[in-house]
Amino acid sequence: MTDSTATLLSSIPSVDKLLRTADAETLIDAFGRQPVTNAVRDDLAALRQSLARKDDVAVDDVSATNILARVVATLEADLSPSLKPVFNLTGTVLHTNLGRAPLPEEAINAIAAVSRGASNLEFNLTTGKRGDRDVHVEDKFAELIGAEAATIVNNNAAAVLLMLNALALRKEVIVSRGELIEIGGAFRIPDIMSRAGAKLREVGTTNRTHPKDFEEAISPKTAMLMKIHTSNYEVQGFTAAVSDTDLAALAHKNDLPFVIDLGSGTMTDLRQFGLPHEPTAQEALASGADLVSFSGDKLLGGPQAGIIAGRADLIAKVKKNPMKRAMRCDKMTIAALETILRLYADPDRLAERIPTLRLLARKQEEIRATATRISPALDNTLGDRYAVALDQCQSQIGSGSLPAERLDSVALVIRPTATKGVGTALKHLATALRSLPMPVIGRIQDDAFWLDLRCLEPSNEEAFISQLNAITIK
Ligand SMILES: *Cc1c(COP(=O)(O)O)cnc(C)c1O
Repeated sequence: MTDSTATLLSSIPSVDKLLRTADAETLIDAFGRQPVTNAVRDDLAALRQSLARKDDVAVDDVSATNILARVVATLEADLSPSLKPVFNLTGTVLHTNLGRAPLPEEAINAIAAVSRGASNLEFNLTTGKRGDRDVHVEDKFAELIGAEAATIVNNNAAAVLLMLNALALRKEVIVSRGELIEIGGAFRIPDIMSRAGAKLREVGTTNRTHPKDFEEAISPKTAMLMKIHTSNYEVQGFTAAVSDTDLAALAHKNDLPFVIDLGSGTMTDLRQFGLPHEPTAQEALASGADLVSFSGDKLLGGPQAGIIAGRADLIAKVKKNPMKRAMRCDKMTIAALETILRLYADPDRLAERIPTLRLLARKQEEIRATATRISPALDNTLGDRYAVALDQCQSQIGSGSLPAERLDSVALVIRPTATKGVGTALKHLATALRSLPMPVIGRIQDDAFWLDLRCLEPSNEEAFISQLNAITIK
């Protein structure tokens, strides 16, 4: 050990002494005694380790002031939430990695109201007896969809698992080969089927399935015919699929239920908002499906949930299944769903009140106006190293809805001005935008960084601009 290392080691203040300083008292008031003590201890241990490793340690590094300054930085970083809001400027409106549907303000208020204290979640206020948590939404879902009955679970993957387990345990479920889909990683129809205890009986080929394929597969072992909406890809070219109506007729001729997993599923015709048509739960039932399931946080525009609607006797079976208890929705979800249902009861104002629909229906001209307003601020912040331009782009709906459809939008396109090191410059820009207090997420494409402004509504423009001065690009 050199003399200077020994001197530095001996000049490191003790934890006790540091904690008794006035600066430390202020920190303890702000962060609490235990977190400050732990952070100080960790910092001193790191200092001693650096000295033992003979790293470069300056005299200043061991001063009480600098130790506490590092402690503040650590505590602030630890306190900043891991899960936080971001600007989704990826061009994918329902982005699974970015939390899917933004909730209406009314739903957020309803969540806050029931979370703050006790509620009549499972308590019947009329009889004063124990109630069922699903009553707050089940009948309203059934009514809106035009179904005999409905129920809800945590998400649509759970809905599919539950329907299969409740109606097809140890029996066969006939599905077209073209529909054995994988949705975002772990949700694969064949795996879900086996975990649900049902046997998959695949029929037809990837591109073509005919009525006789189903007919020949039906046996005493069959529990149901199932259709899975191939929501994240399209099979094009030489294709054939059996229509819902034909599948329903075939199922019913054999006394079997016909079940449709819609995935996105909506309860309203999206064409009224100038969007492409996506099958609705109503249409699925009208075509003869006995049960239909769909997600709460895709096109419906609500909280994460899975909705199952259809025949009353089948819904009763689903609800009686013990797995239903393990998949039940919590009160916050139920509160949000109830609000969503109230908004859907007034279809004329849906596009204003359900943020997902509002964003999807947003006109290219409105998006261009946003781009024109915020472009100068961004250009100014980025300086000479990057050039900002407006360009047209195409947004996607996302979450597997209408995979082939694109919505005309406008993006701010940022290009590095230097011709060398374009890739690196773009990566540095992306990192800097992700490091902002409210991270900005865009995408790199064609040697440029694209910010699709479809999801930046006028009410958020100020928040977007005001944090730009915090940007630091490597
Ligand atoms: C999205 C989707 C699911 C899974 O729904 P989650 O709500 O994400 O659990 C299941 N089936 C289809 C067809 C889907 O598109």
